[in-house]
Amino acid sequence: MNLKDHLLLRIQNDGPMTIADYMTDCLMHPVHGYYATRDPLGVQGDFITAPEISQMFGELIGLCLAQTWLEQGKPKRFILAELGPGRGTLMADILRATKSVPGFHEAAEIALLEASPVLRDIQLKTLQGYKPQWIEVMADLADLPLFLVANEFFDALPIRQFLRDGESWRERLVGADGTSLAFGLGPQAAQTALSERLEDTQDGDLVELCATAVPILSAAAGQIARNGGAALIIDYGDWRSLGDTLQALQAHETTDPLDQPGQADLTAHVDFEALAIATRASGCAHTKLTPQGVFLERLGITARAQSLTASLGGTQLEELIAAHRRLTHPDEMGNLFKVLGLYPQNAASPPGLEP
Ligand code: SAH
Repeated sequence: MNLKDHLLLRIQNDGPMTIADYMTDCLMHPVHGYYATRDPLGVQGDFITAPEISQMFGELIGLCLAQTWLEQGKPKRFILAELGPGRGTLMADILRATKSVPGFHEAAEIALLEASPVLRDIQLKTLQGYKPQWIEVMADLADLPLFLVANEFFDALPIRQFLRDGESWRERLVGADGTSLAFGLGPQAAQTALSERLEDTQDGDLVELCATAVPILSAAAGQIARNGGAALIIDYGDWRSLGDTLQALQAHETTDPLDQPGQADLTAHVDFEALAIATRASGCAHTKLTPQGVFLERLGITARAQSLTASLGGTQLEELIAAHRRLTHPDEMGNLFKVLGLYPQNAASPPGLEP
């Protein structure tokens, strides 16, 4: 039975399902899930991410984290963690760029949170020579200073959608229409998690909630507040969710999210305000939300690109120029992607980001 038939049967038995349950099955079902069964990244895959576009991305992130580690007095043991490491490219670039920072590698214990067995195998190969540990949940992290990065992780977490209807909400659900999956609306209900959104929304507005993001982020923020460290959360999204951002990508093209469950990547924009609220509630400070292009420019991506171009010619040179543009230009990833930094209240904010 394919995933669509499995979902139709489930809907027949239990009724329409939340978008979060739908996303969870589509992405992580052990037999049919999109991430659980394949490597989706790269030119040949369905989408490409910043670390896969250029090594410069991970190098600058590595130097940003290492500088923060130096400024915090070089803690002798710390966790260098990544959430959703994909192919392990970002972590490999971070480690290569920080090799020459005295004491950094000796102090670092690498921890990866990855749900996909296929991607874990690839990470193991990419990070050969280092000793990464895979964690199942955030509570598995050793209680040490935490330096963490997450690129395009939070956008893969399941969201629920709610449509404003008078003073209450109707949840957008996935149901069946004959042999097809179809969106529908649940009954009117009050939503305590959305009580404040009654103030800034109108009838017919749609808002999204990502319940799984908060405990993950709170765990990281609490650990940084207690032990020191920093986190860089990089993703597409903005401050406060408004509107339907559920998106399916297949072979670099958007498709209907209900069309081929398990065959397309499903994501939603990250609501950075929700992450910031969870950070503050855990006693941790956060930076201003900063466009990726601005962040990378402040960290010196143009100088890094110029130093790399010195040894390049022909198509390699053209590719590097294109990669620089793609990562930083406001019409490409520069503005759509944002960076939120977490840091202890008594410490300086990470380089490239403002308190
Ligand atoms: N950070 C990488 C990959 C981004 S794709 C890059 O920038 O290239 C999203 C990653 O998050 C994949 O590795 C995926 O398997 C992982 N992921 C998605 N949902 C997850 C979950 N609930 N728990 C752990 N990992 C998850």
